[in-house]
Amino acid sequence: MAKQINMAKQIDCLFCKIANKKTDTEIIYEDEDFSAFYDIKPKAPIHILIVPKKHFESIIEIEENGDIEILGKILAFAAKLAKKFNIENGYRLQFNQGKKAGQEIDHLHLHLLGFK
Ligand code: AMP
Repeated sequence: MAKQINMAKQIDCLFCKIANKKTDTEIIYEDEDFSAFYDIKPKAPIHILIVPKKHFESIIEIEENGDIEILGKILAFAAKLAKKFNIENGYRLQFNQGKKAGQEIDHLHLHLLGFK
């Protein structure tokens, strides 16, 4: 039953659609696991969202399902992207977990906030 609910959420998930190129959003960088695109409401001079192509609801789901290696991969992807955008001397990485911390979208994503 829980799996069915998760599947339904996945079909409806905005970040699944963006990450898998089902919308007009420009993908600025990708590899086999992740897509990156600009945040629609930037909170830094460069604000990029890094999103797994596979649906994970949040960091909690990763911990529960044992998909821990995705977290190492997402950080390595962010570091590579920061170099590409010449912000390796000034960036912040942020996961928002839960509504109280401001999580709006229930698909795991890492904010890359870059300062020139
Ligand atoms: P969070 O609050 O951590 O869930 O972050 C969600 C982020 O997604 C926010 O910073 C939003 O501005 C951003 N966002 C929402 N919809 C879109 C979209 N269609 N394209 C790009 N960014 C979006």
